[in-house]
Amino acid sequence: MWKPGKIFGFLIVVYSCGMIQGMVDDVSASPADSLEQRSSDGSYNRFAHEKGKYFEGDIVLPQGFRAVSMMPRWRKGIIPYTIHRSFRPSERKAIYEAMQDIEAKTCIEFKKRSDESNYVRITNLNQGCFSFVGRAGGSQQLNLGPGCVYKTTIIHELTHAIGMWHEQSRQDRDRFINIMWNNIPRNYWSEFQKHNDLINYGTLYDYRSVMHYSYNAFARDRSRPTIITKRKMPLRLLGMGDNNGGLTEIDALQINRMYKCENYRDPYKMAN
Ligand SMILES: [Zn+2]
Repeated sequence: MWKPGKIFGFLIVVYSCGMIQGMVDDVSASPADSLEQRSSDGSYNRFAHEKGKYFEGDIVLPQGFRAVSMMPRWRKGIIPYTIHRSFRPSERKAIYEAMQDIEAKTCIEFKKRSDESNYVRITNLNQGCFSFVGRAGGSQQLNLGPGCVYKTTIIHELTHAIGMWHEQSRQDRDRFINIMWNNIPRNYWSEFQKHNDLINYGTLYDYRSVMHYSYNAFARDRSRPTIITKRKMPLRLLGMGDNNGGLTEIDALQINRMYKCENYRDPYKMAN
């Protein structure tokens, strides 16, 4: 359900942090109390992006946000970026690999920023993984905090920056999944809202989309699901991406249709 009141309140929080000037190095994005991004052995958490305190966990909304279908795109699909110096070489490598996965499957191009005024500033300065959706204007932070520098999570955040929302926010999602509300604390119910104006570009519902929540996202009891599929399938596949943890074919198709890419593979017929 659409809750403009909540979003408005959220905007106040974001912009009191100074994000409107693009000065987000010191943004007071304190860790959510549910942050458990690093597992006990220190390895990365595949779904760290689901645990933030932002809109639907990891989305930062720009000022004047009105509707999900109106997020500005990147001109010609070219996304200038910077990577903060504090990333380790192995982490930079993971970021480049995530970019390459997207570039190989879509017409999106990531380009080291020279003097472009609109760009994605990839940081690890805050807790959590989060991104704006689409081109926010000016310098927009994409944060990969502890536990976030993992291929599928990086692709997930980059895909938000491209302009995509969460797959289970689709208006038609109730035909494909059931939300197990009784395993979700009430203060997280809003993370599972549908966006009625979300454009799906005529694609099929994609259980494996890198933009889909995992089966126990925001669970009160992590051993039980918060999302079950109407189709019989292993729940662990939800949000897993393709066999290499990259964009699925449908993820790529949505991006390519969003950006009107020429010469992209289009194995699906457009639905009305
Ligand atoms: Zn997300």
